Amino acid sequence: MTTTKKPHILVVPFPQSGHMLPHLDLTHQLLLRGATVTVLVTPQSDPYLDPLRSLHSPEHFKTLVLPFPSHPSIPSGVETLQQLPLEALPHMLEALSGLHDPLVDFLNHQPPSALPDVILGGAFLSPWINKAADAFSLKSIYFLPINAHMISILWDVEHRSFFDEMEAATTASYGLVVNTFYELESEMVEFVRTKYLTHHRIWTVGPLLAVKAGADRGGRSSLPAEKVLAWLDECSEDNSVVYIAFGSQIRLTAEQTAALAAALETSGVRFIWAVRDAAKKVNSGDNSEEDVMPAGFEERVKEKGLVIRGWAPQTMILGHRAVGSYLTHLGWGSALEGMVGGVVMLAWPMQADHFSNAEMLVDELGVAVRVGENKDSVPDSGKLARVLADSVKDDFPVRARFMKLREKGMEAIKEGGSSYNNLDDLVAEMCV
Ligand code: UDP
Repeated sequence: MTTTKKPHILVVPFPQSGHMLPHLDLTHQLLLRGATVTVLVTPQSDPYLDPLRSLHSPEHFKTLVLPFPSHPSIPSGVETLQQLPLEALPHMLEALSGLHDPLVDFLNHQPPSALPDVILGGAFLSPWINKAADAFSLKSIYFLPINAHMISILWDVEHRSFFDEMEAATTASYGLVVNTFYELESEMVEFVRTKYLTHHRIWTVGPLLAVKAGADRGGRSSLPAEKVLAWLDECSEDNSVVYIAFGSQIRLTAEQTAALAAALETSGVRFIWAVRDAAKKVNSGDNSEEDVMPAGFEERVKEKGLVIRGWAPQTMILGHRAVGSYLTHLGWGSALEGMVGGVVMLAWPMQADHFSNAEMLVDELGVAVRVGENKDSVPDSGKLARVLADSVKDDFPVRARFMKLREKGMEAIKEGGSSYNNLDDLVAEMCV
C-alpha cells in the first residue's frame, strides 16, 4: 500500500510496565515512520515518556496528561497496576474508564484539523476507547503485549467478566497490533485472524526493540546503570553471567528467595539478581516490609554476584555480551527481551500468560528450560544449582535451537522482514 499522508495517532497505553514499555517501543517505530503522536498518560506515568521526548521533536511527539480518576479501591497516589497486586486489575480498569469523559472533552475542544486519525489503545482499555473513537469517527486499533497463542487461549473461554467485554470491544475495532513475529507462530496468528476477526487486520510487529535513550526504561535503576555496566564489563568471559528477574509485578516469598539464594551459591555462577520490592502483597500474602534475603548472602557472594534491590536496567543487562542465561517468570515482554539479548531462558512461570508462554517456548519449541512451576512452588536448590551452572555452558542443550529461533526474530524486524513490513503497512492503513 502506498500513501504519502502520515497519520496523527492518539496513543493510550495501559499503565503497567509490561504493557506500557512495549506500547511505547511501538510508538517509537511509528514516529520513525513519520507519524505524529499524542500520548495520553496520567501524571505518574509521564516519566515513561522521557526516552521518546528526548528522541523526537515536540512537533511530532506530544503528550496529553490527564488527572488519574479517583476510585474507592485504589489508594491515592497509585496510578499503575504494578503498584498493586494483579488481583486489583478490575478496579484499575474501572478507574481508568473514568478517563473517557475528560478525553472526549479534550477532543471536543480540538479544531477538526488537530483531531487524530486513529486511537492506538492498550487492549485492556478497549471498551471505553471504542466509545470515544466512535463519537469522533476515529479508527480504534489495539495493541496487545501478549502473543497470538495467549490471545487464542484468552478468547477461547467465556469468562463472564471484564475479559469478555474487552474481547468484544477489541475484536470490534479496526485492527490489532501484536508483539510477536509471524515466523514464531504463523498458525496461531492465522487462527486468531480467521476465528475472531471479521476484517482480518492483525499486524505482528515484534520483537519490538526497546527504545534506546539512556538506561532508564520504565524507571530509574535503583543501582546506577553505570555501576551495573562496569560490573558486567569486568566479566571477561562472554555468556558467563546469569540474570535473574521476575518482571515488574512478582515478588518472591522468603522461602523461594532462600532456595534461589542457596542454588546461586552452590552453582558458583556469576549472576545479577534483580529483587523487586514493589507490589509486596502479590505473593507474600501480607504487607510486611521484612527483608527476605538470607542473612549474609550478599556478603558471601560479593565476588560473583550483584544484587539489585528495586528497578533494574533490564534491557541493558540482557543485551550485554557477558550475560548468557536468564532465570525469568516469562512475562512476554521479558521473554522477547531475552530473545533479542540472545540469552537462553530458564522459565519459572508465575501467573497470567507466563504459563502459556512456557508451554510454547519450553514444551512446543524446546528453546527454553522449565525450572519452576508456579508462584507457590519452591524449587529444589540442588537441581536448580545444576541447571544454573549448565545454562552458561556453550553446549547447554537448548541453546542451538534457541539461537536459530532468535535469528528468525531478528530477521523479522530487519528492513524487508515480516514485522518491519507490517509496521509500514500499519502506518499506511491508519490514513486510509
Ligand atoms: N523491567 C525493567 N526493570 C525491572 C523490571 C522490569 O526494566 O526491574 C521491564 C522489563 O524490561 C520489561 C517490563 O518491565 O520491559 C516487564 O515486562 P513483562 O512482560 O515481563 O511484564 P510483567 O511481568 O512485569 O507484567
